[in-house]
Amino acid sequence: MTELAEIDLAPASAPGDAASTLDIIAAVDAAVDEHLDWLHQWNRALICREALSAGVADDGGCEACRFGQWYALHRHDGGLVDQPVFHDLAEAHRRMHGQARVLAGLARDGGAIPVGDYDRFVQAADDFNTRARRISAAFQRLLSDLDPLTGTHSRQTMMAELEREAVRARRTGAPLCLVLVDLDHFKRINDTHGHTAGDRVLATAAGRLLAQVRPYDTVFRYGGEEFLLCLPNADLEAAAAVCERLRMAIADPPVDLDDGKKHCLTASFGLALLRSGPVNDAIVSADRALYDAKRSGRNQVKAYTVVEAALDR
Ligand code: GH3
Ligand code: MG
Ligand code: MG
Repeated sequence: MTELAEIDLAPASAPGDAASTLDIIAAVDAAVDEHLDWLHQWNRALICREALSAGVADDGGCEACRFGQWYALHRHDGGLVDQPVFHDLAEAHRRMHGQARVLAGLARDGGAIPVGDYDRFVQAADDFNTRARRISAAFQRLLSDLDPLTGTHSRQTMMAELEREAVRARRTGAPLCLVLVDLDHFKRINDTHGHTAGDRVLATAAGRLLAQVRPYDTVFRYGGEEFLLCLPNADLEAAAAVCERLRMAIADPPVDLDDGKKHCLTASFGLALLRSGPVNDAIVSADRALYDAKRSGRNQVKAYTVVEAALDR
């Protein structure tokens, strides 16, 4: 079974028509309920020797039920459903309906149903339900890990998530960049317009980051007005291009304030490539690059380079 650690959980950053985290939880929970009810009707029909109703015998197979239709809609949309753990769930779903079709054929012919066929059907149904419940639980945990003001991931599980990404990057040999983003002169917004306006600007900035990152990037709220981005499959050059896009998205258009005024918000970015050392080393390097961006005048992207890394050794 695909490990839960392999599930990509990237809320709010999936592309346009892809299912959101909430859609996924609702669809997967509904699939469990739908199939438990279906299984119950199967058992009643088999035990009480009732004729199977058309809906329960389900010759339309796995494409006919609500879960099958939902999966068909999202399987290729490039969002969260389009990943191995859901494709495995769909395969388990197909196996379960396949076993049901075998039993339906035997029942229709009026013969006894061999114990082995019945056991395989129940086993397939158990497998489907177990997978679905684990996926739903993983996405529910994710929702409880979101920072309520910004909708980004909270600091709570950040290190564990980063360690997981680092292991994956090292296993696959793909580069991984970490970025620290700090909003420029944010204190002035609070001082001039009040804390509530500051909160709104902070949430707007986070929304722009989330809207611009790639589906499998992760945005954490690192501190007050600081964010940490985890960019898998990105070397320094690619990550710098992502950051440049984010920098421009934060700066333009100016943010609307309640009093009708507009605020020209900017942010500074420091990025670092994960090297052979601990994840924390990459965070420290990103912080140094961020400091450089601030010192150089803010509203810019700076990378911690190979040269600096060599000098640090
Ligand atoms: P710099 O460009 O050097 O980063 O300047 P700055 O003013 O952004 O940095 P500084 O660290 O001096 O101030 C950060 C401010 O962010 C201070 C703090 O009150 C504010 N802040 C942190 N978290 C929140 C929040 O959740 N809501 C609001 N409204 N303000 C916050
Ligand atoms: Mg700060
Ligand atoms: Mg700041």
